[in-house]
Amino acid sequence: MKPSVRPASGRSKPSVPPRWRKEVESILITDAQLEKRILQMSREIQADFTGREMVVVSLLNGTVMFLADLIRSLSLPLRLDFIGVSSYGAGTESGDLVFTKELRLDVRGRDVLLVDDILDTGRTLSRVHAKIKALKPRRIKTCVLLNKSARRVEDVEADYVGFEIPDYFVVGYGLDFAERFRNLPFVAVLHPHVYKEGIKKLK
Ligand code: 5GP
Ligand code: MG
Repeated sequence: MKPSVRPASGRSKPSVPPRWRKEVESILITDAQLEKRILQMSREIQADFTGREMVVVSLLNGTVMFLADLIRSLSLPLRLDFIGVSSYGAGTESGDLVFTKELRLDVRGRDVLLVDDILDTGRTLSRVHAKIKALKPRRIKTCVLLNKSARRVEDVEADYVGFEIPDYFVVGYGLDFAERFRNLPFVAVLHPHVYKEGIKKLK
């Protein structure tokens, strides 16, 4: 069962730590929710990948925290590598994809788990999937922490999804806005003024 999250309201609304109140409007997914769901995801993955050593291919930079928590819960033999891909400039709109780091491990004939932070338009995952497929692995499974299906442009779905989220630009737990806010321990939505000022500042 993959949870669908909406911003909580009233008494159930998690309170934003004082340090972040100026920038963070609301917490969409708490650290406790993340921890619980990632443990479930690792069990799902483990059940599908028993036996063989897999190659985990994680997309930089947004997956850092998710990846660290996910693979610590996987009691499976694995090797880890990264692909650097950047789709955004300083803003929140998807631009052209730029590869900043190429895969080093040989995945031919291997079971690959491709990990990304968020599936949005689907351009990143479909391009990276095609790139890995060309290297002839035995199979590729895809895993994302967040899914924003409302914005999909490419015909792509992930095999493992942490949370379905509405169409908000989210930050935290590895996800950035203009390279900031990756260190928040939860997934959050910023105040509109931060998005506006952030773009202005970087211009
Ligand atoms: P897609 O290619 O599917 O449109 O976008 C995927 C990439 O865009 C993700 O790997 C992520 O880096 C970035 N992205 C998409 N939506 C968001 C969002 O709401 N917040 C942040 N910080 N990054 C996003
Ligand atoms: Mg990314």
